[in-house]
Amino acid sequence: MKGALNKLSSSVSTLLSAFFGTAARQSDHRRLTQYIVTLNQKENPEEIISEASLCLKDILDYRLFAFVIKTENGIDVWLDPRMYKKSLESVIIKDFSITATADINYMNHQFHSDEAEWEYSLENLTSYDLMEKNYQAKIYMLPNRTLLNYHDEIVNIILKSTGNSISRQMNIARLTDAAAIDPLTGCYNRREFESQIQRSVADATRHKKPLSVFMFDIDHFKAVNDTYGHPAGDKVLKEIAALVNHNMRRGDTLSRYGGEEFIAILPETNKQKAMELADRLRYKIETREIETNKGLVRVTASFGVAQLNHHSEGSRLIQDADCMLYKAKRNGRNTVMPGLIKICPPKASSTPSAKIVCTNG
Ligand code: GH3
Ligand code: MG
Ligand code: MG
Repeated sequence: MKGALNKLSSSVSTLLSAFFGTAARQSDHRRLTQYIVTLNQKENPEEIISEASLCLKDILDYRLFAFVIKTENGIDVWLDPRMYKKSLESVIIKDFSITATADINYMNHQFHSDEAEWEYSLENLTSYDLMEKNYQAKIYMLPNRTLLNYHDEIVNIILKSTGNSISRQMNIARLTDAAAIDPLTGCYNRREFESQIQRSVADATRHKKPLSVFMFDIDHFKAVNDTYGHPAGDKVLKEIAALVNHNMRRGDTLSRYGGEEFIAILPETNKQKAMELADRLRYKIETREIETNKGLVRVTASFGVAQLNHHSEGSRLIQDADCMLYKAKRNGRNTVMPGLIKICPPKASSTPSAKIVCTNG
């Protein structure tokens, strides 16, 4: 790692030496090299841009510095100092072709809606552009010094280095996501679940808080594939996962445990509350009509619920939920086990075209 950084440092030095001749330039050159090496060691976009701003403050002594990055997720802005917000926003709106300031996310400040804002002159505002495959970035600056030609080079080098570091971080985040997320449903995958449950069990044990899980499996799902085709089956899986995800609390997580089997971790939740939630979800699933290319499909699901016993292991918790799910299947499906008084009444008979015919019950 050190060797790689030294190599980077020397290649940056070689690149930059072309631009610098005088002693002042050489001094700027040395400082810039050092900043770029440090910038490459940073591990998140805020730290990377903060280092870039320190470098430009040191070398160019700016009055205003803003780094704006537009990705598929929106527009992030790093602004120094914060008083330029209002003045700069109209420039950003124009340059990035957006319609509202609500689309702008500030990385290094929090602004309140009732905060007073003033306009400041942006005369001599200079901007530098970077267009990359996955994002567009811009640096805006109001320097305190007269900019010489080689200062432009400095800003461009900083912009390129900052952009490279941020892209690297974005790729890492994308790869990490890909390793944790099930591509069909967008839920966490089984491997990620295994590490999440370990953390949740450790937390619950340490803080003596309840922890529950529920496992559910779509009933007669094979019949869905057989009747409507595999793509329709995929659509059903996606929609059921989204339906469950939207109806859980923020700290709850849903993972795809197997083909048509899912598991949810519910921190700070006792078994009674988990059973109530599971039954509400069971009802929502039963009553949802899913549009597919082969018509409307309705399915039901069976749920098994379990709570962590603080004397037992996480693996025992999953075994308990699995055992309850098995009982729910044995009890006629479309049910939650352990059983509770039904909160949601079973729905009256459904449209015939949407009904799944049980062939292997
Ligand atoms: P039960 O009520 O007992 O759970 O019956 P079932 O038909 O749901 O269970 P079974 O285990 O017999 O069949 C599960 C089916 O789920 C078979 C498999 O092809 C289907 N399946 C698993 N993963 C996917 C997927 O990603 N997409 C689609 N379309 N089907 C899947
Ligand atoms: Mg099933
Ligand atoms: Mg199954």
